[in-house]
Amino acid sequence: MSHPDSTTSPETIAKPWWQRIPLTLQIVIALVAAISVGIALGAGNPSPSNAALINNLAIPAELVLKALRALATPLILVAVLHTLMTTNIPGTAGRRLFVLLLSNTTVAILVGLFVANVLRPGTWGNVVTPTTTQITGQSLDPWGLIKDAVPEAVLKPLVDNNVIQLIVIALSFGIVLRGLKSEQIAQGKNAYQPIEDVIGILFEAVVRILNWVIALVPFAVFGIVAKTVAKEGFTPFQSLGAFIVAVLLALLLQACYYLTRVKFGSWVQPLKFLAGGSDAFLTAFSTSSSAAAMPVTFEVLQTKIGLRESSAALGALVGANFNNDGTALYEAMSALYISQLIGQHLSLGQQVIVILTSIFASVGAANIPNAGLVTMTLVFTSVGLPTQYIALLVTVDWFLDRCRTAINVMGDMTVSTLLDGKKPRFVDEA
Ligand code: ASP
Repeated sequence: MSHPDSTTSPETIAKPWWQRIPLTLQIVIALVAAISVGIALGAGNPSPSNAALINNLAIPAELVLKALRALATPLILVAVLHTLMTTNIPGTAGRRLFVLLLSNTTVAILVGLFVANVLRPGTWGNVVTPTTTQITGQSLDPWGLIKDAVPEAVLKPLVDNNVIQLIVIALSFGIVLRGLKSEQIAQGKNAYQPIEDVIGILFEAVVRILNWVIALVPFAVFGIVAKTVAKEGFTPFQSLGAFIVAVLLALLLQACYYLTRVKFGSWVQPLKFLAGGSDAFLTAFSTSSSAAAMPVTFEVLQTKIGLRESSAALGALVGANFNNDGTALYEAMSALYISQLIGQHLSLGQQVIVILTSIFASVGAANIPNAGLVTMTLVFTSVGLPTQYIALLVTVDWFLDRCRTAINVMGDMTVSTLLDGKKPRFVDEA
């Protein structure tokens, strides 16, 4: 989902000095400080007199996760409504776009689950952090899934953090509001405008609150890493390293899938696609935000790759709002990784639920830094995985977010390229 431009917001004008340190650097500093504190507190052999202090170190991470869980549903709701009310999607191209988005996201999740099932990164460090929450057994029940998709009350999914029901509500209202808007425009009326404005403002408000929470992430990282090192030494980080390798491998496979689709489904040569798109990939990597990269993506698709403006707009401006393949892949892999880490097998049925919720969670993920972490809470909840383990992932999210954002952008560019078809633009223009 896109987010309103906040570059001119008063909040960004006069920032105190510590907020001007890039978040990545803050997290790196937090990591270094946490490792030192963790070693000082025992590095796996903590003294019993420090037990309370060590446990309290996890409090910032618990609070950040609680806030992220609370923000996930309003973020998805307003982001879907905002996109549906404000974007322009022509009929047949819209259907093609939908099929491409769904197929690419499904492939991304399957690639992620495949790599996580084969490499089993969660078993590499052989660590089980004690938890009080157990996974609740769920088996594959397609009829039950459909029944569960319909909420009992309109606001219940917001309260229950149920992502599938929430998307059903958001899509229903979004599609109806969109229809009403075009009817009113056809009749020369504009009564839809206040609703559109309110949704836009709510969206910006949720994104700003999210930014407050994200500003606290370095404290969460400090606390959780210091606590983990103090209590368990460095063993847990072995499996986290394996997880990073597994995610990078899966993202690389997904990139290969895109290049294959570009080669066989469009007139563009894969090398030209890679070279022409490099500015967009780098912008995505350096900002961790596909929204920030959006203007660059749109530009390079036309000027460097040579696509028609309509295809570039559909993939890079419209599709980008719903299409977050890298995020979907990452969320599914994270669920599997944590289930391996805590020794709780996710059955095939549960993995299907992970696929479905990851699709919805990635549709609802805003195109801003760390948004995948927010909606991941919903994927975990759907299969009963304890969300407090997301705190471990927070420590590596600053890096993996950059990588999956680059893949999100590459996915949007692939969709544009496929929509452009097998005939180059200059054939039309000749
Ligand atoms: N940062 C990603 C993006 O902007 C979203 C995510 O956190 O996965 O595309």
